[in-house]
Amino acid sequence: MNANSLEQVLREDIRALSPYPVSERTGLVLLDAMENPHPLPETLQAEIAQLVSHAAINRYPDSQSVRLKERLRDAMDISSELGIMLGNGSDELIQIIALAVAKPGASLLTVEPAFVMYRMIASYAGLRYTGVQLGANFALDVEAVIAAIEQNQPALVFVAYPNNPTGNLFDRDGMTRIIQAAPGLVVIDEAYHIFAQQTFVPLLAEIPNLLVLRTLSKLGMAGLRLGFLVGRGDWLAQLEKLRLPYNVNVLTQIVAEKLLQHMDVLRVQAREINSQRDQLYAELSELPSVRAYPSDANFILFRVTQADEVFEGLIKRGVLIKNLNRSHPLLKNCLRVTVGTAQQNQMFMQALKQSLIP
Ligand SMILES: *Cc1c(COP(=O)(O)O)cnc(C)c1O
Repeated sequence: MNANSLEQVLREDIRALSPYPVSERTGLVLLDAMENPHPLPETLQAEIAQLVSHAAINRYPDSQSVRLKERLRDAMDISSELGIMLGNGSDELIQIIALAVAKPGASLLTVEPAFVMYRMIASYAGLRYTGVQLGANFALDVEAVIAAIEQNQPALVFVAYPNNPTGNLFDRDGMTRIIQAAPGLVVIDEAYHIFAQQTFVPLLAEIPNLLVLRTLSKLGMAGLRLGFLVGRGDWLAQLEKLRLPYNVNVLTQIVAEKLLQHMDVLRVQAREINSQRDQLYAELSELPSVRAYPSDANFILFRVTQADEVFEGLIKRGVLIKNLNRSHPLLKNCLRVTVGTAQQNQMFMQALKQSLIP
């Protein structure tokens, strides 16, 4: 045997990648990953326990998730004219879309800073990548995006609405102009829809190359891993060929079906998170050495003078947020806090005040 080394066997671009960063999280107040901090009501927990104990985990799941899709249509108000495709988290759907368009030389275009998975997945799929910088206050630079679209002719455009990690909703007319200028597929990522209540779903009927991506992660089910793509049936039928047959497991299907019948509970939690966000934003804005950016999502981006020291100071005091310093030039000294419960937010504010360098 004359086995080749890892370097000889693996793709060079994969070896050059840094893994998606995930922090050590035990024993900390977790305000780093846009999770819903509220537990489910006990009655609902009991119903789920009952369902799970009877689940047919010896059987493969329904590969079409027929019942779950019906529940999604009802809960999210999606008309029967539109198709739905499910993913193991919306990350998986981003990957499927990228693989589907990855002809030699094809490219993915997005804005920057944006959700880091767009760039990573472009790289997995071998797509060229173009990131167009956002303008002042992280607003969309529509002219720059349109110029980059004309120059690169991207097969795929991704825009998150609201944007992560900046939290803002981009100008709607600007978005529409970008959608119309794009020659390939445009995916609007509405991961934070429950908080922002703004959507491009109505445009799906008019614009054939548009898809809308959503997830259950940010509305209280991050552990289930369920994302979905809404769009025209002809596009989704093609993308379905790349979906692994049993990507949504039995337990995810039954628990999500149950919770989607209780959207009232999740909506109340989202409203509470929105009101906590507004309060947290007001408190952050009062601190002289902090610049907080307005958010329509369940997190707030803010800038300090020495982000690394503040981030470490928060960890020392038991609070984990996200350090975005060095993740992008426009995010120098920026941190991102996920909105927690009133009590968690208070702990965060106290720890922040103690960690700020005057
Ligand atoms: C969190 C997030 C996702 C990922 O969601 P999953 O369904 O948990 O994979 C996708 N897009 C954006 C913009 C996000 O912030």
